[in-house]
Amino acid sequence: MPLNFNRSWTDEDLDRWRDTCARFVEDELLPDDAAARERGNVGMALWRKAGALGLLCTDIPDTWGGGGGDFRHEAVLYEECARRGISGWGNSVHTIVAHYFLNHGTEDQKARYLPRMARGELVGAIAMTEPGAGSDLQGIRTRAEQRSGPGGDEFVINGSKTFITNGLLAGVVLVVCKTDPTQGARGTSILIVETEGCAGFKVGRVLDKLGMKSQDTSELFFDGVTVPATNLLGGAVGQGFYQLMGDLPYERLIIGVTALAGMEGAYQATLDYVRERKAFGKPIGDLQNTRFKLAEVATQIQVGRAFIDRCVEQLVAGQLDTATASMAKLWASETQGRVLDECLQLFGGYGFMNEYLIARMYADARVQRIYGGTSEIMKEVISRAL
Ligand SMILES: Cc1cc2nc3c(=O)[nH]c(=O)nc-3n(C[C@H](O)[C@H](O)[C@H](O)COP(=O)(O)OP(=O)(O)OC[C@H]3O[C@@H](n4cnc5c(N)ncnc54)[C@H](O)[C@@H]3O)c2cc1C
Repeated sequence: MPLNFNRSWTDEDLDRWRDTCARFVEDELLPDDAAARERGNVGMALWRKAGALGLLCTDIPDTWGGGGGDFRHEAVLYEECARRGISGWGNSVHTIVAHYFLNHGTEDQKARYLPRMARGELVGAIAMTEPGAGSDLQGIRTRAEQRSGPGGDEFVINGSKTFITNGLLAGVVLVVCKTDPTQGARGTSILIVETEGCAGFKVGRVLDKLGMKSQDTSELFFDGVTVPATNLLGGAVGQGFYQLMGDLPYERLIIGVTALAGMEGAYQATLDYVRERKAFGKPIGDLQNTRFKLAEVATQIQVGRAFIDRCVEQLVAGQLDTATASMAKLWASETQGRVLDECLQLFGGYGFMNEYLIARMYADARVQRIYGGTSEIMKEVISRAL
């Protein structure tokens, strides 16, 4: 009997939705994946197509142009990408940005950005990390100074950001800035920057990474970028940290969900491979070591599925706390690293070749322990709740 990795939170509608997502990944993303990895981005046409098919902002209310679903709809799409090794399409960051607008934006800001983001006309990015500040976001130096301009109050932004997902293709960037360097957390605000024709805004290098080759992770530079005061997210200064903390369970669970789906994809690919590959006159899948390794992997996935599924249900019910979401991110990303290592080993030398899915999945998995808050920061967060 094959193992059952079914989700506890699925139903017939979501199963149909999963078919739609899987078709999109197979028809639109996979055929272009090798070229996208060469280019270092998935291209705007893909974003627009996803928007036209209703695959973006699926858990944003339809009043704002979204799909009107909940986190499960997002999770299904992330899973169908992750299990096939599609790692460079930054649609989860796009959705996270949409949630910043939904949860903290003014009515005008929601109306201005959410429908265009849902249509895939405007790709979203969030720029927190700087060359000198990552885990310790209080250390950011990008400055937004308020002044009166000819058209009313405005902010002038100076600074640089790095490692920004969707940095090249982004049409709207949420820039985390210091509005009052004398204050700690209360001196931080988020400014909305529209990139098209924006004087003083520059995309630096699209960074050459170990994995996630098709993701346009970039440096961004802000040299006197001037935006009207109405581009302050939520309309009040000093709210940046509070806004950043608000959606942490959501952001961390996305990584938990993709980690588990990545493990499922790797397990299936490995199972298929060891049944075909022969050594010493029989499939390597018949060797006791192979069977034991895959038994361990399957067990990890089953155990993880129970925990991640519960987290998904809690999130949908509005009950997932930050510490539990941090456990999901920590456990799933660390386990993903170990599982991918074991699976790759069973491919022998082929596992080291980038043309093999398992090699790319292995490289992609490494960053799951780093971005969205490192494993060490997750342990800090969890230990504070003990
Ligand atoms: C592919 C990719 C995409 C990314 N996308 C984005 C994005 O879209 N937007 C964005 O703003 N950022 C993004 N990031 C940045 C990412 O969030 C940071 O890299 C991450 O938060 C870690 O920050 P850092 O790289 O500065 O490492 P550092 O903070 O310098 O950490 C270095 C090491 O020190 C450890 N450390 C730091 N503080 C502590 C502590 N208190 N206790 C114990 N250990 C500690 C860390 O765990 C780590 O092991 C992305 C990064 C990557 C690689």
